[in-house]
Parts: sequence; C-alpha cells; structure tokens
Amino acid sequence: MAFIVKKKIGGNEYYYLNENKRVDGKVKTKTIAYLGKDKKEAEKKAKDILENRKQSDQKSPKPLDLKEAKPVLKSTEISIEELAVFCKRKGFVYQSGEIYGGLAGFYDYGSLGHQLKKNFENVWRKYFLGLNSNFFEIETSEIMSSNVFVASEHLKNFNDIAAKCKKGHIERVDLLMERYTHKKMDGLSDDEWLNLIKENKAVCSTCKSPIEYVGPINMMFPIQLGVGTATTAYLRPETAQGPYVNFKAEFEVARNKLPLGLALIGRAYRNELSPRNLLLRQRAFTQAELQIFFNPAKIEEHEDFEDVKDYELIVMQSNSRDDGVIKTSCNELAKRIPKFYVYYMARVQQFYLDVLKLEEEKFRFFELNDKEKAFYNKYHFDIEVDLPNLGWTELGGVHYRTDHDLKGHQEISKQNLSVMDEETKERFIPHVVELSFGVDRNFQTLLTFAYFYDKERDNIVLRLNPKLSPVKAAILPIVKKDEFEKISRNIFDTLNKEWKVVQDKSGSIGRRYARNDEVGTPFCITIDGESLKKKDVTIRDRDTKKQTRVKISLLKDILRKLIEETLDFDEI
Ligand code: ATP
Repeated sequence: MAFIVKKKIGGNEYYYLNENKRVDGKVKTKTIAYLGKDKKEAEKKAKDILENRKQSDQKSPKPLDLKEAKPVLKSTEISIEELAVFCKRKGFVYQSGEIYGGLAGFYDYGSLGHQLKKNFENVWRKYFLGLNSNFFEIETSEIMSSNVFVASEHLKNFNDIAAKCKKGHIERVDLLMERYTHKKMDGLSDDEWLNLIKENKAVCSTCKSPIEYVGPINMMFPIQLGVGTATTAYLRPETAQGPYVNFKAEFEVARNKLPLGLALIGRAYRNELSPRNLLLRQRAFTQAELQIFFNPAKIEEHEDFEDVKDYELIVMQSNSRDDGVIKTSCNELAKRIPKFYVYYMARVQQFYLDVLKLEEEKFRFFELNDKEKAFYNKYHFDIEVDLPNLGWTELGGVHYRTDHDLKGHQEISKQNLSVMDEETKERFIPHVVELSFGVDRNFQTLLTFAYFYDKERDNIVLRLNPKLSPVKAAILPIVKKDEFEKISRNIFDTLNKEWKVVQDKSGSIGRRYARNDEVGTPFCITIDGESLKKKDVTIRDRDTKKQTRVKISLLKDILRKLIEETLDFDEI
C-alpha cells in the first residue's frame, strides 16, 4: 500500500511517496519517490507514478514522462519507477515501440544499455567458460520444433497458474493472492488456491468480479512456419534445449570427454501473464546458461572440490527457513547435496561476490522445496539478490536436471543419446547440472546497485565496476582549438581500438565530468595547456574525483590496468 508522507528538514517541508511491504515476514517501509515541496504537485506526481505502475502491471505500459527525468530521490535506493526514467533518459533501456504506446513485456536496449549488457555477457563468458577446458559456447535456433518441447515436457508442464474471473480477465493467481496475504506463495494445488481465494474474498484485479476458475495456462509462444499447410513450431522458452538437442554432436567433437559444458547466451520467450518491474519479468529476455553434462556415477566427486571445500556458502535452506540465511561450508553442504553440484554453487557465489563485487548481505542461495522447484529439477537453488523496494529477487538458479531432458529427446527422436565411459566401458545417459542466469535481471541489478546520488556533487554517479562500464573513458579537450582537438583525436583513435571511448567537447569541464559520471564512465582524460608542452594528460577517477597526470605514451597501458583492476588509481 503506497502513501504520501511529509518530512520537515531544516524548516522546509518535503513530500515522499512511501510504501509498506512485507519482506521475510517483517513490514518494511520503503521510499518509492521524492515528490517535491508542494503538496498539490506531490499528490499529482504520486498519482502518475501509481498509475504508471498499475499500467505496467497489466497491459501496455504508459510512456514515461520525461518531466520526471530529473533525479529526485536523494538516496542510493532507487525505485523501479525512477530506474525506468533514468534508463530512458540516459539511453540504457526503452519500452519497445514506445512511439506506438509500447508493448507490455518488451524492451529495447539503447547504445549504453547494449554495451553494458554485452560487457556483462563477456564477463560471464570469461568466468564460466574458464572453469574447465572442456566447456564451450554454442549458438542455436530460437525457433524449435514442437517435438523438442514434447520431449522436454514444456508443452505439458510449462505453465503459469492463472485465475480467471467471471468476465474472462486472466491474471497470475500467486500475484493476485500476494496482494491479499502479503506473502509469496508457490506450489499450491488448484483447489488450495481456490480455497485461499474464498477465505480472503479475493476478486479480479481488473473488474472486481468474482474469480471463477484457477488452472494452468501454457507460457509458450507458438509460431506458424510456412503458409498453406503450415506446421506449428515454438519460440524457445529457455536456451537449455539447444545444448540438449546438440549434445551428441558436440560430445563427439569434444572427443567423447565428460564433463562437457555447453554454454549459450541468447533470447528466450515466455508469454508471461503479468510482465512487470521493468526488465525483471519480460516476454522476451536474454539468458546465459551453462549445461554441464556428466557421468551420474561420479556425482559425489569433482576434480576441483578441494579448492572450495572450506568456502562458505550463503544459503536459505528449504527445511529451515525460520532460521533465516545461514553460512555453511561446501564440505558441510556436501553431506546432503552432491559434491558435483555444490562445487558449482561455490563458483556461482564467487562470480557474484568476487567478480561482480556484490555486497555479501545482498546475496543468497534460496533452496526450493519439492512443491516449489521446477518440474525437471531434483535439486534447485535459486540465486537471489536483495533489491531495494523489491526484496529478495531471483537472478538465476543452479539446477540438477538429471537425465530428464536427454532421456526425453532420446525417446521422442529415437536417436541413441547415451555415451560410454572410456574407463569402465559402461553406457549411460549423461546427467546435467545447469547454471542458469537471466541477463536482463542481472543488468537491472547492476544498474540498481551502481546508482548513487552524490550529495556533494548534486549529481548521480553510476558506480559501475570499470569492467562493466559501457564507456571506459571520456576524452575532454579543455579548449576548443585545433591543437587540443588533434591530441584528443589521436588518443581517441588509440583507445577506441580496444574499448568504447568517447570525445566530449562541449560544455564546462564540470558539466562534462557530471555527464560522464552519470553514465558510469570510470575515467575522464583531460587535455589542457600543459599537455601541449609535456605530452601528458590528466586522468580523473569517477568515484574519488582524484586526478593525476600521465604521459600520453603510457595512457593505454595504464588504462588497461585500471580497467582490469591490476593497478589502483593511487599507485599510478
Ligand atoms: P521466475 O520464477 O521468476 O518466473 P523461473 O524460475 O521460471 O523464474 P528459470 O526458468 O529458472 O526462471 O529461468 C532462468 C532465469 O531466467 C531466471 O532466474 C531469470 O533470471 C530469467 N528469467 C526467467 N523468466 C524471465 C522473464 N520473464 N523476464 C526476465 N528474465 C526472466
């Protein structure tokens, strides 16, 4: 429930839009937006924000009003509404086809957003493909034959449970009931949902008429191939099936060696009933998934387990949720979860904490119980982060899919997908541990945590890790004269071969710094009078505003070390 509050600060009155939310059983108040000093204006703004939110919960989102674009919430906790405005204003993300009113659940990436997304994908690639020399990346079709999804059982089981009202409006039953119970619920039977609806006197969110039916609705997008005697194929709802149907061929190319990892970064499509929260729940989104095929007889071992055995995992266990999050060593967890699986949990956590540098308190694995986990999983831990205003949010998962998919494909395709262990000469169908990540959800998380309002600068500073920043450096000639611009151009030509860099020539130097801080550019390179004589430039660090002079001949090398974080700014 959202409400307006008035705060008195230094004799002035300020209005905020707040909201109470139940997070992990406790009611927490969060600020959605700063509404200004005028009561009437504040009421109007609040109405717009809530209207915008309601619309994006249901049908096509209302185009964002750029009058809202000034960063207003003077805190590091950005709401979804403000993030959407920021993303649009700075060219990170737009509603798809906004000039036609937008299409619910579809977003386009602008140039900065595209670059940030690619950078995340490259960091992911480098890390996960680096875990084993027998891990490879492939690229497969987004449209697949219906047989693929008969085999994987997506046509039968890949459903949202929907509530349908007397007038025919459909919505996700778990979201409907979350509004009444303030609890996240999953895994109830249709009858249990109907009872809950009755107990809470829940009605349709659109027209308030009674709910008549609860049942599954398949989330796949069918596609008609050809004309006339058209056949039905499907847009893939997950990237995973590509590696499964290509497994045997890739296994032979990889000279029959297990474990074999097949990674795929690409689009997946789901006909979500309630797309919402900007990029978090879309109908077309990008996944980065790694399918690790292994011999099930060797599930209790991993050749590198020793490296992680004492590493502490942050876990919310399915059988002791009341205890909250615990820290448990890989060795300890491996007493009840297979070692092969636990090893990859450790590597996933290290990716978030060591590579993406997420704060430890914001990360956890959430273990799903038998009712909650996906139909194809034997073990299922979601990868979650604690987002401002949304609470714990799933970014990905570590899934033990057993031989569910390969067995299904063997049965439907009539191809033998079993392999032979060279040592034991045994034949078996490999099992799969899947590391699954939503790229867009990670993208939104990175932006959310990087967004920082710097009081002293009175400006947003996007404190992205330099590895991820869309633009690595801005080159700023201080005077608009040929000799300065020539140096700027030369530096641009040298650096641009390796990274995305820009030349920014207009406005005061302060304004130019602010502009580049706001989009997360970690380093500004200034060319001034001294540069002409001494052939050097000033480098400025985005986060500390510290500056130091560097010879132009050494610039590229130093920049590389700064981006790769092998050199600290103070050590230059
Ligand atoms: P959820 O429970 O949130 O619907 P899921 O468990 O169905 O997600 P998976 O099938 O495990 O998700 O997909 C792997 C990842 O893909 C998710 O963790 C998430 O990051 C991403 N993802 C799934 N659905 C969407 C979506 N509609 N929009 C954006 N990302 C998504």
